[in-house]
Amino acid sequence: MQSILSIVVRHAAMHHVKKVHAIGLSVGSLSDLEEEWMQKYFNHLSAGTIAEGARLKVEWVPAVLSCEACGKHFAIDKTRLDGISCPACGQKKFSLVSGREYHIKDMEAE
Ligand SMILES: [Zn+2]
Repeated sequence: MQSILSIVVRHAAMHHVKKVHAIGLSVGSLSDLEEEWMQKYFNHLSAGTIAEGARLKVEWVPAVLSCEACGKHFAIDKTRLDGISCPACGQKKFSLVSGREYHIKDMEAE
């Protein structure tokens, strides 16, 4: 969250923004972040900055796995890896391609 705030503040300074109203985040569905927690933590961090009081708009994006048996990439929109098998070959060994990352999508400001 600290890194998100510093990106927002830097971006705002670059564009001579007076106030940041909302920040759109895209978050991998396997991330252990929680929307409510993120907003609280962000409120705490952003106090006294240009982004104080900004609303976080979280968009959850499906995780992408790669099958270790056949190499197929497939997306899951679950938050857990339990009970998932490869749609192509049925194996249950995967590596994670994406799903735990988060980044800033857009920003509403004036
Ligand atoms: Zn497979």
